[in-house]
Amino acid sequence: MAKLDFIQEDLEALKKEGLYIHIRVIGSPQDAWTVVNGKKVLNMCSNNYLGFANHPKLKEAAKKAIEDYGVGPAAVRTIAGTMTLHLELEKKLAAFKGREAVISFQSGFNANLATIPALVGREDVIFSDELNHASIIDGCRLSRAKIVRYAHADPEDLAEKMEQEAKNYRRALVVTDGVFSMDGDIAPLPEIVEVAKKYDAIVMVDDAHGEGVLGRDGRGIVDHFGLHEDVDIEVGTLSKAFGVVGGYVAGNAEIVEYLRQKARPFLFSSAVTPPDVAACIAAVDILTESGELVEKLWENTRYFKEGMKSLGFDIGQSVTPITPVMLGEATLAQEFSKRLFDEGVFAQAIGYPTVPRGKARIRVMLSAVHSKEDLDFALDKFAKIGRELGVIE
Ligand SMILES: *Cc1c(COP(=O)(O)O)cnc(C)c1O
Repeated sequence: MAKLDFIQEDLEALKKEGLYIHIRVIGSPQDAWTVVNGKKVLNMCSNNYLGFANHPKLKEAAKKAIEDYGVGPAAVRTIAGTMTLHLELEKKLAAFKGREAVISFQSGFNANLATIPALVGREDVIFSDELNHASIIDGCRLSRAKIVRYAHADPEDLAEKMEQEAKNYRRALVVTDGVFSMDGDIAPLPEIVEVAKKYDAIVMVDDAHGEGVLGRDGRGIVDHFGLHEDVDIEVGTLSKAFGVVGGYVAGNAEIVEYLRQKARPFLFSSAVTPPDVAACIAAVDILTESGELVEKLWENTRYFKEGMKSLGFDIGQSVTPITPVMLGEATLAQEFSKRLFDEGVFAQAIGYPTVPRGKARIRVMLSAVHSKEDLDFALDKFAKIGRELGVIE
């Protein structure tokens, strides 16, 4: 079948460049130690920041929801799929985030695909950080608005681009990741908000890696900067720190109502299932009660980063629990990750196109579920392999 020859050729090319993704198979809950490809390893790979993915209270809530509501929503929410559970989750999330209202979606990815095209169209312009997440990029493309990329986390470049472009369009939207998932740096939101104000632009932040991490007891980046009045839309995911699955948008009641009427993934795709929603509610309840898990996450983060720095690793510019161990070539990152795995540490190599060519790394994700012994174990293995591969002395 000559017409499909390109597939084999492209896959071979990926393998040659060290960019072929080998998907590992998980045979246990996501926890500090997880069974991967049949082997129990220290998990430094998942976005399970607070340990909610296997938390007893979340599991209990999910089981109870199955008894009370069954397993499926059986329709899109506008027809027969909005259960009291979905509304309870939205209400509790809104209270937690300190916003008027929340609308939930099937995923964070979907929340971006839903929101951006609902707010802007052909006559509008979007200013988007050049390192924004794929789901923001795709949401922008779907909207058919003019897309102007500004230099990463650079309000001056944003101001320049807005000065040139904003006046030529009906509406302007400024959109950025809150925490950048590959480098762990954060958006300079106060400065971005200031620039956006000048042009009366809508401001939207995707806080997927900021919730449960930044702000008071994990309320996210907008809370971290105290910008509730200035950021119009907060996108969130329920699949990272919240440990389950789903996405949402928090904002004022009008915007949320508008999305209920206009957002296509809300109107044309079924809701998240009752056990998922109940587990998310339990997670929000736990975080609303106490910041203890968030504190533990930060304690672990400080400890591990200090350890890596004193070993001599380059761990980039992260200011969050995301810890990139910079290695350069994708082949080296893959080799490092493979050796770590053999030694019992699961930490994924990340290369192009997720990060730029030549900036391959191992991305270590810290979690409140890690004990100090776990972190010492990991530091020991990083040191051993770092020396073997000539990354550190
Ligand atoms: C992970 C992530 C998403 C996608 O969230 P899902 O709920 O997994 O679909 C969206 N935006 C950003 C910035 C992310 O890091």
